[in-house]
Amino acid sequence: MSKSFSQLALRNELLLSTSEMGYTELTDIQALSLPVMLAGQDVLAQAKTGSGKTAAFGLNLLQSLDETKTYTHGLVLCPTRELADQVAEQLRLLAKKMSNVKITTLYGGIPMNGQIATLKHRPHIIVGTPGRVMDHMLKHRISLKDMQQLVLDEADRMLDMGFEDELDVIFKHLPREHQTLLFSATYPDGIARISETIQKDPQRIEADALH
Ligand code: ADP
Ligand code: MG
Repeated sequence: MSKSFSQLALRNELLLSTSEMGYTELTDIQALSLPVMLAGQDVLAQAKTGSGKTAAFGLNLLQSLDETKTYTHGLVLCPTRELADQVAEQLRLLAKKMSNVKITTLYGGIPMNGQIATLKHRPHIIVGTPGRVMDHMLKHRISLKDMQQLVLDEADRMLDMGFEDELDVIFKHLPREHQTLLFSATYPDGIARISETIQKDPQRIEADALH
């Protein structure tokens, strides 16, 4: 199993940023999932909290992003605003050596107007909670026609929090062709159902099982 970032064919800016962040070795979930994701396959990954899932999907998102273009490349859905902020913060650190990558957060409790203005500039990556993302989507304020990656982060918690209906609406509005990456700490029936509905031939990865 590949353990070092330099063994992955990552763009130089990402090798620089991970090294600046103090990452030397890949965590298990990163070593198992990144080669599969970078090859373009859907992934259904299960790994405990603190195992480095954000950088796993974050590096995959940034690797294929064309920051010279104005389009929304990826949508990351998280259960809470705190998690959305943490994910966006980590993505910004990973993207630090790339120029002008636009990452925005969308969640409730924040006035709509600022979010609407930001969406007009077509952020490259949107990180948000299902309720607010759905609201903007139904009002046609998010253009996802060129979206290439959907990430469900902490998918089990999104189900626990009752976001299934919002997720269904969002899924129905996405372009047909995109990579779908599902990250979860546990694997309840609801996750299997979502995976069957929205993923195509996913590679199932369980990092915890290695220990
Ligand atoms: P998870 O989402 O799996 O709960 P996070 O993605 O939040 O975990 O990562 C947990 C912590 O580990 C973060 O502080 C992150 O910066 C750090 N981290 C991630 N990948 C690595 C790595 N390869 N080497 C060292 N630290 C890492
Ligand atoms: Mg996480």
